[in-house]
Amino acid sequence: GDLHASDFDDLADLGHGNGGAVKKVIHRPTGRIMARKTLFIDRTAGNVLEAEAERLKKQVVLELQILHQCHSPYIVTFYGAFVHQGEIFICMEHMDLGSLDHLYRKLGHIEEPALGKITVDVLEGLIYLYLQHRIVHRDVKPNNILVNTAGEVKLCDFGVSGEAINSLVKTFVGTSQYMSPERILGLEYSVTADVWALGISLMELAMGRFPFPPEAEDVSKLSVVDMLQFIVNEDIPPLSTDHFTPPFVDFVSACLIKDARKRPTPSQLNQHKFVEFSRVNHFDMAEWGQKVKFRLGK
Ligand code: ADP
Repeated sequence: GDLHASDFDDLADLGHGNGGAVKKVIHRPTGRIMARKTLFIDRTAGNVLEAEAERLKKQVVLELQILHQCHSPYIVTFYGAFVHQGEIFICMEHMDLGSLDHLYRKLGHIEEPALGKITVDVLEGLIYLYLQHRIVHRDVKPNNILVNTAGEVKLCDFGVSGEAINSLVKTFVGTSQYMSPERILGLEYSVTADVWALGISLMELAMGRFPFPPEAEDVSKLSVVDMLQFIVNEDIPPLSTDHFTPPFVDFVSACLIKDARKRPTPSQLNQHKFVEFSRVNHFDMAEWGQKVKFRLGK
């Protein structure tokens, strides 16, 4: 059924994105726990009349309905969207361990076997979105990879586009340090841009910090332009085989091939030996989830 603002009770703050608060809520009619996110509306987008803005917001909600067709164990389930007091809200599956970004900042770097499972699942998610829906995620980063204590790993916040969304919603795909060289250069890009972002994300999670430039201790000291120039012009230093297995190091390097035409697709990476090892390894992600939960003090 449709979701209404008055049917929810707030339970907790989950985090703050650039849109506003993400809250853990309960949907009383179904008793279901959900994560409810405010979508960031670009208020600078033209001098849209109030009435027109309202119509556009309703249109955005309609365009988001495509998310109801995404059914995959590797994609965060969408429950619905609605407009309330001028804001657009999106309700989705609550993932009780939150994002990988939040996890590694609290607990430190993530061990390679867990990253193997995460890689397998993220690839499945990307392959599903692309093969079933022709959706390129466009915003793969640790912040958009969510985990739960059942050991599930799922993608959220992917790039649904439509006329109203494009005109009203600030593309959550602005400049970012996960952008591939071809995107920075304004060239055409495809699903291999997601592969690049996966490579950067894995490096970050493995090292417990944003991976480059190597000499800069503090990435925030680097200007955005310097960062983008680095991505376009410099080779991203590979992970060290002192700390990681050669298949993992090779996998990440394959993701970070600068030439988009030479970079593998998610389906091709699915055959990579790191992925094959990780699949047969059967890392117990549920047990990992329980440990993480304990360490987070949840
Ligand atoms: P943004 O991408 O705009 O920064 P987010 O979607 O990341 O905003 O929301 C901020 C934080 O809220 C995330 O880092 C994550 O910890 C938490 N969060 C978002 N969605 C969920 C969810 N479905 N379940 C649990 N926590 C979530």
